[in-house]
Amino acid sequence: MISIKGLHKQFDQLEVLKGIDLEVEKGKVVVVIGPSGSGKTTMLRCLNILETPTSGVIHIEDQSLDFNKPISKREIPPFRRLTGMVFQSYNLFPHMTALENVMEGPVTVKKNNKEEVRKKAVQLLTKVGLGDKLDYYPFQLSGGQQQRVGIARALAMEPKVMLFDEPTSALDPELVGEVLKVMKDLANEGMTMVVVTHEMRFAKEAADEVLFMDGGVIIERGKPEAIFSSPKEERTKQFLSLIQ
Ligand code: ADP
Repeated sequence: MISIKGLHKQFDQLEVLKGIDLEVEKGKVVVVIGPSGSGKTTMLRCLNILETPTSGVIHIEDQSLDFNKPISKREIPPFRRLTGMVFQSYNLFPHMTALENVMEGPVTVKKNNKEEVRKKAVQLLTKVGLGDKLDYYPFQLSGGQQQRVGIARALAMEPKVMLFDEPTSALDPELVGEVLKVMKDLANEGMTMVVVTHEMRFAKEAADEVLFMDGGVIIERGKPEAIFSSPKEERTKQFLSLIQ
């Protein structure tokens, strides 16, 4: 479903991604861990071209973008629609209700029929446990509820892959579980997911594969049992000893 080859990203003098190669099969959940500043978020943002890679090739489902050559601006929107992104800071439209937030993309970007979009949005909000909060504005919702609206909003665009950038980092601890549960349900339904998170329990319970990144490269990857109980690389061992 996803293939990344030779992905580099440079911000001015700073090389943040130094050659990432990654394949993710359809329906798999990959959790990306690593110290702050190691390039996890940048890699995720490159996957849906919120950051333009300096070089490399990204292939998602049946589309690919080759950043070793000039890219036409017209290629980006259809490529971006393959992925749905969930951010740390929810990024909901504050003047729209939960339902309107979820309907916005399919109505304005995809120009889908409004009544059909409404039906689907109600289904999605019900699925994330917010069927009774359709008409609430973001300020009337808890952080965990807002983040679940964020997930429903991303799903409304019918992406092939869901990208999560530290989706629970801004939440009070008691609200983390409800968001992780929605993510686990999604994983169990077969969604292909790439998740940057500090939630090691989620990684252990839901990941098919864990990637450890440091210094802009993937240092080690493997099944969660292997990475957490018998990491091979010194840097992985060090990182895990600090957080576990
Ligand atoms: P992580 O998600 O692992 O914490 P990031 O991908 O956020 O790491 O950041 C990696 C490095 O890239 C950091 O040194 C960060 O300061 C830098 N960086 C990220 N975004 C930008 C940007 N837009 N401009 C300049 N530097 C950036």
